[in-house]
Amino acid sequence: MSDNGTSEEQTPIRDVIVIGSGPAGMSAALYAARANLDTLVIVGPQLGGQVAITWELDNYLGFYEDLTGPEFVEHMSKHVQKFGAELLYDMVTGIEFDTAPEGGVHSVTCYGGTYRARSVIVSAGASSRKLGVPGEEELTGKGVSYCATCDGAFFKEHDVIVVGGGDSAMEEALFLTRFAKSVKVVHRREELRAGPLLQERAFSNEKIEFIWNTVIDKIGGEGKVDHVLTSRTDREETGRLDVTGVFIFIGHFPNSDLFQGVLEMDEHNYVIVDEHMRTNVPGVYACGEIADPVWRQVATSVGQGAAAGIAVEEYLSGLDAPRTSAEAELEGVGIDATPEDAPAG
Ligand code: NAP
Repeated sequence: MSDNGTSEEQTPIRDVIVIGSGPAGMSAALYAARANLDTLVIVGPQLGGQVAITWELDNYLGFYEDLTGPEFVEHMSKHVQKFGAELLYDMVTGIEFDTAPEGGVHSVTCYGGTYRARSVIVSAGASSRKLGVPGEEELTGKGVSYCATCDGAFFKEHDVIVVGGGDSAMEEALFLTRFAKSVKVVHRREELRAGPLLQERAFSNEKIEFIWNTVIDKIGGEGKVDHVLTSRTDREETGRLDVTGVFIFIGHFPNSDLFQGVLEMDEHNYVIVDEHMRTNVPGVYACGEIADPVWRQVATSVGQGAAAGIAVEEYLSGLDAPRTSAEAELEGVGIDATPEDAPAG
């Protein structure tokens, strides 16, 4: 018993805690809550995850008319709450997963307290990768940004650059053309990684110029960005671009630090799951970008979340199902076996 009169035993044990509220976590929560499981979603730094800062979602099946990221997040949160999932606006600071073969109780600690559950779905997503060049950290929020949707409007009639050649870079460069005077895409190769549709849109936008085979060496400015220093990747040549905005979209890394040493991960720190979204810890599942180095789409995250929600329901049903006395005996529980269900042989 602690000083305030509560004890570990009195802390309610939920059926499932979902860590993260992006499309994967919300989808998992929906399936869990609809299966009548007591479901707690720990929202994390941003309700909805990365999709919350996406301007437009036009590749999620069924939503073919303008759907913004924030609208999608509102739909998701209303949907999971309609079926009884509880959203907790807090961040996870520590975890203690029970590695018992099955039936363990897992603890998840947030700033506001510790929560316990018989299963956990880890869907903490991914974060924007940094360039790691001088000036980037100091000038973040002062011209350096990782979110055009959030900051684009501050750059009306400014000259900006976008760094990267993937889908995110193209999408965000196109978005920035609504505000900026000019958008230069600086890419380290001379071929984009982005899909053909986004490439086509970007190439045909007259506000966008491409600077190929070039990387950023330094972001400069006193208190706010006023230039970047560059160098060519195909020959010895350096340069300078006078810009006030630097939007960086060079990929993501999984938010898996908290789970290091507990959950098995690949060499890039993505959590390893099997086809049932199971991690190496019984009762702990993972889905979405934290466990997906390949697809990383809203649609694929929603699918993985659904699978995790169903798998958790099956896992808990298995735990709750009455044991036959033969099973109990095999597990050493010591219930007398009747002749019908005694182990064969
Ligand atoms: P990404 O596909 O990994 O692209 C990252 C880009 O940044 C690549 O062009 C890469 O260059 C470049 N890059 C990486 N590290 C760099 C560095 N240190 N310096 C300079 N450039 C660097 O990442 P993403 O665009 O964020 O997309 C992530 C995933 O989300 C993808 O699967 C994508 O399809 C998906 N996504 C989809 C949509 C959509 O369908 N509408 C929108 C956004 C994202 P290289 O090409 O040379 O490797």
